[in-house]
Amino acid sequence: MAQRPPRCAAVDPFKPHGLFLEEERSGLGHVVDSAVILLTNKECPWRCLMCDLWRQTVAETVPLGAIPRQIKYALAQLSSRPAQIKLYNSGSFFDPAAIPFADYPAIADAVSFADHIVVEAHPRLVGEKVSRFRDLLSGSLEVAMGLETVHPEILPRLNKKFDLAHFAQATDFLRKEGIEVRAFVLVKTPFMSEAEGLEWAVKSAEFAFACGATVVSIIPTRPGNGALDRLMETGEFTPPRLATLERALELALNLRQGRVFADTWALEPFSSCSACLEKRRQRLHTINLTQRIQPAVDCPACGGL
Ligand code: SF4
Ligand SMILES: [Zn+2]
Repeated sequence: MAQRPPRCAAVDPFKPHGLFLEEERSGLGHVVDSAVILLTNKECPWRCLMCDLWRQTVAETVPLGAIPRQIKYALAQLSSRPAQIKLYNSGSFFDPAAIPFADYPAIADAVSFADHIVVEAHPRLVGEKVSRFRDLLSGSLEVAMGLETVHPEILPRLNKKFDLAHFAQATDFLRKEGIEVRAFVLVKTPFMSEAEGLEWAVKSAEFAFACGATVVSIIPTRPGNGALDRLMETGEFTPPRLATLERALELALNLRQGRVFADTWALEPFSSCSACLEKRRQRLHTINLTQRIQPAVDCPACGGL
């Protein structure tokens, strides 16, 4: 925590700190509109090594009613009603200090038009509350959990405070409750070489699918939270190359166990070639939407590295 840079400018407990509209391929194979609402709430109690989500949080639990108000505020900015809504709260939706339980009915009511709702949670907060929230929804529910990596020595060093059995149990519980599971998998955590970054991203996707996840979202590890910048100074972390993210997506898709998406936000730190970055981002986006590997971008400037 002592490595942290300052928090972002003051966030408003009655407004989400972000909103955007994206397209995503649904479990039924359709490309649907998906609104991502970044809810403002109390900082997550975990302290994962690579996390920078605390930057947009507040120190105290937000007042009762604030979260439904944030959702309504976000939806009022949109000109249409998306089929899918992601309620991402920089922590765990089922953490009562982040989202008061008493707000669940009003939250469910605010998103009652949506076919599918995605929330995020730490595996150790998955339990009966998830089923209670599901029962209030008109659409289906999906819980996204940060698996990050299945590397046996590195997962504990990320300070996630769960082990693979916790992830497997949480996934099993959710699937038995008819709730879908998305796993966030990191490409090249700290303490990995480029080759290990690729190898363990694919192994982690394989594990998530074997547990019952229906979606794996592959995310390149980003510096900027202080701790990772410190590890860059000591040579224990370097961000992955864009080519490693591309290969991880291709290999995880080739498992043919479920949908795989690559994170295409802010790819600049992973590219050393401005000539091909936009084309490669577009290619990843097309793979995300089609779930089919596309021809590689041929770049004379960098050779696709
Ligand atoms: S559980 Fe998620 S939000 Fe909380 S510190 Fe870890 S990575 Fe960040
Ligand atoms: Zn290039």
